[in-house]
Amino acid sequence: MSLLQRPKGTNDILPGVSEKWRFIEDTARLVFSDYQYSEIRTPMFEHYEVISRSVGDTTDIVSKEMYDFYDKGERHVTLRPEGTAPVVRSYVENKLYGPEHVKPYKVYYMGPMFRYERPQAGRLRQFHQIGVEAFGSENPATDVESIAMAMDFFHQLGIQKIQLVINTLGNKESRAAYRQALIDFLEPHFEELSEDSKRRLHENPLRVLDSKDKKDKVVVENAPSILDYLDEESSQHFEQVKTLLEALNIEYVIDTNMVRGLDYYNHTIFEIMSDAIGNTQTTIAAGGRYDSLVEYFGGPETPGFGFAMGIERVLLTLEAEGVEIPTGNELDIYVVGLGEAVNVESLKLVQSIRKQGYSADRDFLNRKAKAQFKTVDKLGAKLVVTIGESELEEGIVKIKNAKTREEKSYSLEEVYTNFDAIYDELMEGEQE
Ligand code: ATP
Ligand code: MG
Repeated sequence: MSLLQRPKGTNDILPGVSEKWRFIEDTARLVFSDYQYSEIRTPMFEHYEVISRSVGDTTDIVSKEMYDFYDKGERHVTLRPEGTAPVVRSYVENKLYGPEHVKPYKVYYMGPMFRYERPQAGRLRQFHQIGVEAFGSENPATDVESIAMAMDFFHQLGIQKIQLVINTLGNKESRAAYRQALIDFLEPHFEELSEDSKRRLHENPLRVLDSKDKKDKVVVENAPSILDYLDEESSQHFEQVKTLLEALNIEYVIDTNMVRGLDYYNHTIFEIMSDAIGNTQTTIAAGGRYDSLVEYFGGPETPGFGFAMGIERVLLTLEAEGVEIPTGNELDIYVVGLGEAVNVESLKLVQSIRKQGYSADRDFLNRKAKAQFKTVDKLGAKLVVTIGESELEEGIVKIKNAKTREEKSYSLEEVYTNFDAIYDELMEGEQE
């Protein structure tokens, strides 16, 4: 690959497509603000330690996928691979747990994330996430409100074929008991496991459940279920989550082998899968509860719940479901200037019309009338202002409604001072 081309696993988001991105981002802002979430923006890079221990040293993200480096001051830094650890770092550093803030404290973010992965459809090295975090509530209603918001967002976008999958990891005690049960179950199968899973067996046995390797999948089919190892508190939390989802008529399935690739979760975890991309299910959003992360960063004991979605995968889902997304810039006015003598007046016209509140454009290449009118059609301008040398001498312009073909002459004076009246007069015919 040429060094003058974009790096592997990155994309240029060009006009024609960037409008779709903005549509997704605008929809997120609208939906999230209805739920009282505010935007937070954290740096694109962090100290390596912010990510490593919180996400987990033995996770794929930290052990294989980090874009980390030493800067000129010998600081070990990394491009952020995900949003939650940076947001929790910021929450603690800026004392957002303070009494002056409404609880739960709710934020959303959107922006690029970086992971050194093998690129394929929906898997990039620079990808983009929209995510949310809520701090300070251990109420299962927060879990469910957050899941409901994610579902709302997808429905607002026009995405229909999605499935909610939930599981629980329980509290610390339940998870430790389950971890041991899992090790006891997996050890006799050691030789059947993939190399990665052999390594994970003692480091991080829950990750074996999540393996995409065929051999591992066969082994874990009969693995013990976390649901049998939940203590009273943990099973109560999970029961309430299920009850609350049912109260909101949100359908879900439970997958006790779903564990998520990050270590900071406890209790509820969930994924939203799309059936629309290819012939396997794809995760488009994922998240859960993390009740000890704030303390890990040195803040007071504060529960948290959040999720993140990949914009690239949301786009693939929209395409696969055939959802039409509005693209392109609407254009109100195009100024057709004929002859070099009208160059100055054309610029004054287009600027004045813009200042009066309309979108406007003009010809800059001194093209013939025919070519300029072709551009008018291409851009879909509503009104066409024509000025040639004779009009300039008379101090007038011709203005035509591109759809109704109605055309009238107006003084330059009127265009400069009261374009609203002209616009209303010529657009009136369209309403009938
Ligand atoms: P996967 O199992 O697909 O690797 P993950 O568990 O690593 O996903 P998370 O870290 O939970 O994913 O990130 C949440 C969401 O971000 C994913 O559901 C996905 O939509 C998106 N995402 C994660 N990694 C990538 C990537 N490399 N390229 C594009 N989108 C991604
Ligand atoms: Mg991954």
